[in-house]
Amino acid sequence: MAAVVDEDGAIHDKFEHEIEDRAPAAVVGALTEVVKSAIGSTKHDVVGIGVGSPGNIDPVSGTIRFSPNFGWTDVPLGARVRDAFPKYTIFVGNDARCATLGEYVHGVGRGTRDFVLLTLGTGIGGGIVANGAVALGYQVGAGEIGHHQIRPDGGFICSCGKIGCFEAQASGTGLLRHAFRLAPSFPRSMLLDPQPIKEKDRDKEGEDGRNWRDRLGSKRIRKAAQAGDAHALATWNAFCDDLALGLANVIAFVNPEVIALGGGVSSAGDFLLDRVKPLVEIRTTMVPRGTTRIVRALLGNDAGAVGAATAAMRGGLIAQLPAAAPAAGS
Ligand SMILES: [Zn+2]
Repeated sequence: MAAVVDEDGAIHDKFEHEIEDRAPAAVVGALTEVVKSAIGSTKHDVVGIGVGSPGNIDPVSGTIRFSPNFGWTDVPLGARVRDAFPKYTIFVGNDARCATLGEYVHGVGRGTRDFVLLTLGTGIGGGIVANGAVALGYQVGAGEIGHHQIRPDGGFICSCGKIGCFEAQASGTGLLRHAFRLAPSFPRSMLLDPQPIKEKDRDKEGEDGRNWRDRLGSKRIRKAAQAGDAHALATWNAFCDDLALGLANVIAFVNPEVIALGGGVSSAGDFLLDRVKPLVEIRTTMVPRGTTRIVRALLGNDAGAVGAATAAMRGGLIAQLPAAAPAAGS
């Protein structure tokens, strides 16, 4: 997806392009094409191009050092985009860190100095803003909150190979896994029975990019829990317990003012937050309980595009907010 974003974080035009072939040349080609059509058809003046991509990405050169999602190693994406668009300022960074910057500058993180975004989707993406800057870390690996282990004994196997990572337990996929794990205790439950898929949903992707199968799964569990289904409620409670465990750890590591939850599961709103907040407080031991606000993210799927554009405008993810700079003359 390409979007034309202004300095206030507002999206003016959106351009979608499916990426089927994940070979570097094919992805660069598709990316170049969609950016060209965005520049060609917007009536706004384009000053820079920000690109968010999965993977461990050099924040200066924009080279993707490795990306498990794409199976890439050392792909000079930044250089390729600069070759294609020599007139513009280019920024290439990790998509989850971009989303964090977007939500921080233009979403619910606005006005804070310490902020965490967690997107609960297929996995858990997000990032950390500490003292007004997106934390990148020594090898640009800071903010991989999804891969801290919360259930190393008996947890679910994570896509990264470890057992019981936060994202294996508390993502949208984690919610489904809890339902499967608890199924033997509810032999008469119909929660996981196959459902006929409506014709209109067959080719659709879910709101967080997952296909209809996943989307129907986690949404169905949540709806059934809200309706009081015993299997779904037990699933929901186990899921919220794991989510709270990870959130309390995040508070211990980062002590943010706000943790924003995005992704499909967060659309449960108060049904999620009312359950999770007290569980987080119980596990918050070293800072005053209840001081970190846990809220829904504001920008949804647009956070990544808004953040990538913001990074291009500011010259990178590490740019401080203007308010954080010392006042002139002081
Ligand atoms: Zn993991």
